[in-house]
Formats: sequence, C-alpha cells, structure tokens
Amino acid sequence: MKPLLSTFMLIHNLIVILMTNNKLHATHAHDLLVINGGGFSCESWLLGVETNNVRGWKTVPRGCESFVGQYMIGKRYGEDLAMVVREAEKYARGLKLGGDGKEVWVFDVDDTALSNLPFYAHRGFGRPAVQQSLRLYKTLLSLGIKVMFLGTDFEHDRDIISANLRKVGYITWEKLLLRIPKVKLSTISYKSSERKKLQQEGYKIIGNIGDQWSDILGTPEGDRTFKLPNPMYYVN
Ligand SMILES: [Mg+2]
Repeated sequence: MKPLLSTFMLIHNLIVILMTNNKLHATHAHDLLVINGGGFSCESWLLGVETNNVRGWKTVPRGCESFVGQYMIGKRYGEDLAMVVREAEKYARGLKLGGDGKEVWVFDVDDTALSNLPFYAHRGFGRPAVQQSLRLYKTLLSLGIKVMFLGTDFEHDRDIISANLRKVGYITWEKLLLRIPKVKLSTISYKSSERKKLQQEGYKIIGNIGDQWSDILGTPEGDRTFKLPNPMYYVN
C-alpha cells in the first residue's frame, strides 16, 4: 500500500470533502484539464489511463481531482468493476478444465482483492474486500480453479495481509506471494518472474486480474488478463 504520498493526500482530502459535503454537485464530467494549450476532459484522461495510453503519471491532473473522487465514491467505479468481473466469470465458466487441479488464477492484492478506498478516506486499518473481486474469487473456487495472490506488499506483512484476506472472505488460497525487500525489481519484472515460477512448478495460469497494467503485462501474462479500474495512482 505505497502509492505516492502526494496522490494519497490529494485523494484523501478530496474524499473527506465529498463525504462531508453533500451539497457538492454531481459528477464534474466536463472539468477540463489543460495540457500543452489543449483542453481535455477528465473522462478522456480516465479512458487514457485505463487503456494504458496515459502512462507514468504521478498525480491526478489538476482540475480532475473532484472528478476522480466522484468516480471512486459514486456508482461508476463499482459498475466498472462489476463489468470486468462479469466478463471474467463468463470466461471462467466457459473453460474446459484439465481435471488435474493445476489451473490457477492470479489476483493482485491492493485495490484488486482488498480495497484501499477506506484507507484513503479515513486512514483506518483493516481493508474491506473489493466485493466484485470477492465474487469472482468465489466463482472460481466453485469451478475448481485455484487462486494465487500476487501482491506488491512485503513479506514481513504476510500475517497482516493473510488475516485481512481471511477476515473479509478470501478463506483459502494456493499461494500468497509477496515481495522480499532486498530484491529490487520493477513491478512488471517481479510479477512476471513470479508467474514464470508458477508455470515452472506446473501450474497453468488461466487468468490474471489486477488494477495496474504492471500487474498484467510481462511474460507470461496468463491465458487471459483483466484490468480493474484505478484512476487514483499509477504503479510503474
Ligand atoms: Mg494493485
């Protein structure tokens, strides 16, 4: 849970304002941000982020803070999550499994399995599930597909993360893979090397889901990847 502090502060303040001020008007869909003299809507920026055309951004652009806040705490974020999960479930239900129990699905942890949104809003402890992801998790287990968690958190937080996952309904998993602090790798390199190890162990990665492009890019990606929305921060 280490997105850039400035982004955290921005979103934190924004969500607190939105939660405590019900007079705040609805979606600022037409807020404009100005780049190189050209006007862009915040919706266009969001689309650019989710399609990985806008990369390496450090903070939500000025002028789009309220748009992103409304997106996250309004209905739209949940609806977008649900759309991804609907497609993932459709795909999973249509698979012909080998029967050897080797099919696995890789879940990212931060803002995929567990939501950081209350953390941004209240700086509280104990993260709730991303309900749509929990639903996918249950569907996969019911189909006989094993789940792996591949997080960017560090190994020394294993007990906290395990307890958090169990508490919110992720009751079992094949592996919970976490980072070792002394190994310095980009997220893409770290996650793809962990997926490669899984393959070498005989697992077949049929699905891979995360809120960052760095969760799902890099060979081997898995047979199919699913990107959850996240306009709050970008992990390289
Ligand atoms: Mg994540």
